[in-house]
Amino acid sequence: QVESLKAKLLEQAQEISRLRSELGGTDAEKHRDLLAAENERLRQEMKACEGELRELQRQQQQAPCRDCPHLQENAGLQEQLSQLQREAEEARAKLVELELEVQQKTNRLAEVELRLKDSLAERAEEEERLSRRLRDSQETIASLKSQPQQIKYIIKTVEVESAKAKQALCETQSRNQYLLEQVGMQKQVLKEMEQQLQSSQKTEAQLRAQIMMYEAELERAHGQMLEEMQAMEEEKNRAIEEAFSRAQVEMKAVHENLAGVRTNLLTLQPALRTLTHDYNSLKRQVRDFPLLLQETLRSARAEISQAIEEVHSTNRELLRKYRRELQLRKKCHNELVRLKGNIRVFGRVRPITKEDGEGPEAANAVTFDADDDAVLHLLHKGKQVSFELDKVFPPQASQEEVGATVHTVGVRWGGSHLLLTLLCLPQVFQEVQALVTSCIDGYNVCIFAYGQTGAGKTYTMEGTAANPGINQRALQLLFSEVRGKAADWDYTITVSAAEIYNEALRDLLGKEPQEKLEIKLCPDGSGQLYVPGLTEFRVQSVEDINKVFEFGHVKRVTECTNLNEHSSRSHALLIVTVRGLDRSTGLRTTGKLNLVDLAGSERVGRSGAEGSRLREAQHINKSLSALGDVIYALRSRQGHVPFRNSKLTYLLQDSLSGDSKTLMMVQVSPAEKNTSETLCSLKFAERVRSVELGPVSRKAELGSWTSQEHLEVLKTLLGDSPGSTAPPGRAHTSPSPGQLSSRSASIRRKLHTSG
Ligand code: ADP
Ligand code: MG
Repeated sequence: QVESLKAKLLEQAQEISRLRSELGGTDAEKHRDLLAAENERLRQEMKACEGELRELQRQQQQAPCRDCPHLQENAGLQEQLSQLQREAEEARAKLVELELEVQQKTNRLAEVELRLKDSLAERAEEEERLSRRLRDSQETIASLKSQPQQIKYIIKTVEVESAKAKQALCETQSRNQYLLEQVGMQKQVLKEMEQQLQSSQKTEAQLRAQIMMYEAELERAHGQMLEEMQAMEEEKNRAIEEAFSRAQVEMKAVHENLAGVRTNLLTLQPALRTLTHDYNSLKRQVRDFPLLLQETLRSARAEISQAIEEVHSTNRELLRKYRRELQLRKKCHNELVRLKGNIRVFGRVRPITKEDGEGPEAANAVTFDADDDAVLHLLHKGKQVSFELDKVFPPQASQEEVGATVHTVGVRWGGSHLLLTLLCLPQVFQEVQALVTSCIDGYNVCIFAYGQTGAGKTYTMEGTAANPGINQRALQLLFSEVRGKAADWDYTITVSAAEIYNEALRDLLGKEPQEKLEIKLCPDGSGQLYVPGLTEFRVQSVEDINKVFEFGHVKRVTECTNLNEHSSRSHALLIVTVRGLDRSTGLRTTGKLNLVDLAGSERVGRSGAEGSRLREAQHINKSLSALGDVIYALRSRQGHVPFRNSKLTYLLQDSLSGDSKTLMMVQVSPAEKNTSETLCSLKFAERVRSVELGPVSRKAELGSWTSQEHLEVLKTLLGDSPGSTAPPGRAHTSPSPGQLSSRSASIRRKLHTSG
């Protein structure tokens, strides 16, 4: 037992020494020192890195590269770096903590060691004591052996003594137990410490790895930064080089420019000198200008007033000439109309209408000469009878051809506003236009529509609203001409409308249409006729006249039970009086335009009419033949003209005699059934126009045109040109432009013979 206890003790001592060597604080301390050294080294490195970083930042601040793409990256890297620094700081704090822990553990270890030493010393003492007792016991045992008797006893003693030893052993054992426990505890502590050491080693390794990682990162960032800086440097150099080369080029150009400017300056200098000179002279001129201006203004004023005076006198002269020319024109126009014949006879054939019916009765009996628009052929009872008038309008002739289209346009000319009347005149209407001009000039004019009922008299004179007739168109012309002359003339236009029925004259515009009016001689002894009580309306436009027409028409409708019947039995007269005053000369003119829609010319009386019809027919016949007689007498220039034979001719006496102009529109129906009436109408027409003027009267008339000036004007007006010739074989003169030349030729012949 003692041996085994000894062995155990030895073992434990060995164990303790091993533990001591193992636990030896020197290892941990060494480790800590190592860590501290490592830490110091890392700190140094960090410091160096920070220094480097600061240097880099300074460099960057010194050469900031604006707009550099690396700037952002650099900022990112710096951010990373600061992150890393933060992490390193944290690691450092952790390290300090660990160091503190290690220190604490080392202290505790030292304490434990101290305690262990004490307990070991105690154990050694105990062992010593035990070994001593063991020796004593052995000695006792040996002495006892030599005394065998006593041995039993001794054994007993030994036993007794061994009980004591046993107790001591027990104590020692408990003590040993305690020590063992202590050793176990120490082992436990050691184990814990080892574990702590291991964990701290692990943490250290981790930290080291992290530090290494950070270092690598730092290294990489550093490398990157260096690379970027290198690139930036290169770029900067390149930019500098480029800028330098550009600057060199620009410099060269500037130098060249400078040289050009220098040469320019050299050349400009003389120009500048002359300019300065000019400027000085201009300055002088400006100084003298007001005086000069005054002088010039004075002379200009004098010149202008002289010029104005001259213009005035020229104007006066022109005005005088203009008036003379006006008079001349008027005379010429009148002479022209007179030469053409103051009395003109036109024929108009209406188209076949529904009213003509159908069959042979409605067949066309009228044909025209393709080459002569004054000739008309009538097929009567199988025989063709030809008539020649001044002009013949076929059925297809439009109202415009018979009338005229008038356009008035305003024109600015030399500061004054002129009204130009543009006449879209079919040649045939020139007659009507000439008559309107004559009326404005102060001549009296009559336009008659003659023919059997239904031959188109009213159509020709009045027309329809959409297609107006001569009345409307002649009045349009009248107004537009009057407007054109408004600058010099004041015109007053009045209208009257009358009707002659059964030789009774009635006022269509009066309050008492049934009242019969009388035609009387003017009491002033001028020989002029007038109708007391005949209403006159003053009109200023065609619209006014239309209103008057309507008024008259309404009256006629209300007064008559059968207007158509009545109108064919009566003569309807529209009398337009044009009174003019030339403002510059004070000359007064009065012209009358009588537009007469005659009663139907059919010979009702001969076909056995009775009573009122017979009376009407007699009156119509009488008045129409009186009209024929008057015109005949006028045209053949008879001494006596039977005006008083009818109310119509008597009323129109002053518009038929003297220098008055007359146009007779003979209306004709082309229908077969009307041929005998047509024949009568055409005979009437031919009778009034076929009168040749006697050579003596013509000569006498032409005698007043001896001056060369008038001859020239006449020639011009007749539209005569040296090359034009009259158509051969035509005995009668004709008014149409084609035939005007024959008339002018005959006039020329007559002029020639009259010398
Ligand atoms: P009047 O007055 O001679 O009795 P109207 O003028 O009343 O005859 O004409 C009779 C008919 O013939 C009317 O219906 C009219 O419209 C028509 N007429 C007359 N002349 C023409 C013409 N040139 N073109 C077309 N229709 C016409
Ligand atoms: Mg009629």
